[in-house]
Amino acid sequence: MKKNVLLSKVARRFHTFDLLPSLLTSPSWGAPHLPYSPHSLLCLVIDIKSQFDVIVVGAGAAGLYTALCIPAELQIGLITKETVSLSASDWAQGGIAAAIAPEDSPYLHIEDTMQAGAGLCDRPAVEFLAKQAPSCIQSLVNLGVAFDRHNSHLALTLEAAHSRHRVLHAADTTGREVTTTLTNQVLRRQNIQVIQQALALSLWLEPETRKCQGISLFYQGHVKWIRANAVVLATGGGGQVFAQSTNPAVSTGDGVRSHGVLEQFSGIWNLCNSTPLL
Ligand SMILES: Cc1cc2nc3c(=O)[nH]c(=O)nc-3n(C[C@H](O)[C@H](O)[C@H](O)COP(=O)(O)OP(=O)(O)OC[C@H]3O[C@@H](n4cnc5c(N)ncnc54)[C@H](O)[C@@H]3O)c2cc1C
Repeated sequence: MKKNVLLSKVARRFHTFDLLPSLLTSPSWGAPHLPYSPHSLLCLVIDIKSQFDVIVVGAGAAGLYTALCIPAELQIGLITKETVSLSASDWAQGGIAAAIAPEDSPYLHIEDTMQAGAGLCDRPAVEFLAKQAPSCIQSLVNLGVAFDRHNSHLALTLEAAHSRHRVLHAADTTGREVTTTLTNQVLRRQNIQVIQQALALSLWLEPETRKCQGISLFYQGHVKWIRANAVVLATGGGGQVFAQSTNPAVSTGDGVRSHGVLEQFSGIWNLCNSTPLL
């Protein structure tokens, strides 16, 4: 019990993704060589499922949309360390770029982005985002996102380095419109369990194969191990590494920081900070 109180304090202070497991495997916990067994913690009574088909970590635009794209026959655990209403996505004001005007094309969007990026852009990523953007916007509209309209058409503004009218808005609260709509859709889905104020700590790896079999979670003062056939990381960016930031407190780069370790394991899709916004 003493250990859980201390873990609770650590989690609140650091909001980090993989700090606690290193404490759990630390010699100071009396287990110098073996990882702390998940099973020794399963006796704790916590009212969430212990197994899902898919776990999505993160309930910003990327996590919410991912959960909605997964077939409805699969059981999904959607996890956020805060409430669903707090994310960088919710705070995004400006808008979303997509080449949907008749005189526009994904090719022009790609070229504008590459030019604006001044050599820093990853071309395959830019191509993927620009090509997928029109169908993603259509999908958001189908889900009920109310972008501003001009007459009956989606309104598009000319902004920043874009050479065409390409930016969709919902007044100056575009992110809130997107996340509110997606959250409402998620809450209607019987197959998605939203788990709020639950801090994902680490991936749960099969010791021999190193295959991901779920995650460990800090929830209501206890560590819980949850199984899943697949884990999606949609944990957002890491703006909080800077002393001055407009990002919310949740933007601590938990998934990004672990990326080098994570990408070698199977069954994991990393959508960190992947929303194709402006
Ligand atoms: C003020 C502001 C304005 C912006 N304006 C624009 C704009 O106009 N256009 C644009 O394109 N972009 C804009 N952005 C950037 C944009 O909001 C982000 O790039 C995008 O929303 C990221 O979405 P996401 O779903 O990947 O992450 P987020 O929305 O940050 O969501 C991350 C989620 O992961 C959860 N999480 C993180 N770590 C853990 C963990 N260990 N355990 C459990 N849950 C965890 C968080 O609680 C949260 O639910 C803006 C950002 C800010 C802050």
